[in-house]
Amino acid sequence: MPRFPYLCCSLVLLCLLSNICRADQPAEFTGTQGIFDFHNGFWVNLHHFLYCQAQASAPGGPIRVHIDPADSNEMASLSQVEGDDWHAAVSYYAMSLAKRDLLFDSGMVDIKNQLEDSEHARDLEEAKLSPELKSVLLRAAPVYRRHWWPRHESLNQEWVRHLQPLLDRYGVDMRQALARIYEVPWPSRPIRVDAVVYANCAGAYTTLFPTRPTISTTDAANQGTAALEMAFHESSHAMMEGVRAAIDSAEKAATLAPSKTATPLHRDLWHEVLFYTSGELVAELAPGYIPYADKNGLWARVWAGADREFIEKDWKPHISGAVSIQAALTRLVNDLLSFSPGRISTPSSFDQQFSTGAFVESFHLGKLRPMQPISTPPDYELVDPTFEPTSMEGRTKSATFDFNPIASGLRN
Ligand SMILES: [Zn+2]
Repeated sequence: MPRFPYLCCSLVLLCLLSNICRADQPAEFTGTQGIFDFHNGFWVNLHHFLYCQAQASAPGGPIRVHIDPADSNEMASLSQVEGDDWHAAVSYYAMSLAKRDLLFDSGMVDIKNQLEDSEHARDLEEAKLSPELKSVLLRAAPVYRRHWWPRHESLNQEWVRHLQPLLDRYGVDMRQALARIYEVPWPSRPIRVDAVVYANCAGAYTTLFPTRPTISTTDAANQGTAALEMAFHESSHAMMEGVRAAIDSAEKAATLAPSKTATPLHRDLWHEVLFYTSGELVAELAPGYIPYADKNGLWARVWAGADREFIEKDWKPHISGAVSIQAALTRLVNDLLSFSPGRISTPSSFDQQFSTGAFVESFHLGKLRPMQPISTPPDYELVDPTFEPTSMEGRTKSATFDFNPIASGLRN
């Protein structure tokens, strides 16, 4: 697999981004060289563009599928034959892939990884893809290469070019801080980051084993210094095992204590902690920077309540090294449970079955939202229509949703 290590020399970076030279992977990386390995791959860009076009054309698709007008307008310049080839590919994606999740569907992760590894292959001969998908991509490739790829390739290059001085200035500090805070060493090899014009509806996502962030270079929220936060945020997804374990342990202790009847928080608290941490670190290093979650209203819109306030109070002391991960997160879990007395009443849970294609990802939450109505039992109201999947393999997924009683006689 050709690999392009991230180097701080602009001449080498130019060579790297234009995909015209290759470098052997050095045995060890130091400084900013050891952080990221940026790729600007043709096939993975085509794949995400088709995926988003198919989603945008589907009724009831995800909230945030935005096709740039410059890309939509280009459709008018396709010849009849090119239009037929392109529409066949979009139709295939709409029928077969657009309802599958890029992050939680292991088959979609395999497709992405194969296409990333095939970035220099003109014919996809080595790629382990279904014959149908390979045929669709090979037919659409000349159209994409002629009409969209030059612009997309250039946009990706620009994004990495703007990120480079930020990495040179802050990258080593960020890497060291994250390794210290999460108590996980930074990988010995640079983390591969695929720059794409279109990612998922959240603007970025990270698949694990191996760790591979895919980041949209045109998403408005990923520009300027936010690109630095996003690159480290996405990479941090591979470092959260200790945080998740500490939260689980604190929740278990709180819910099993004889004097308490609290139910688990049912929220992606680890992801809130991740958001806070990478945003806070960048804000400490880059004066005037407003963290992604603050700027984009996630604390108000997605995690309304006192979450940010408690994370700052309980988790920030760990960031500064004053308390352990477990102590900080135990305090945080207990504060959140105490703050949400409604959650301490006894909600009822009901399992429901959905086909694996019947979900869309909730905005940058790592959660899924069913595309079909959830059947709410009489006298109950749905607590939260999203859930965090544990596995999306197989044809159906059993999802557990919480309901609270609404009739006064049922309240306790
Ligand atoms: Zn994230």
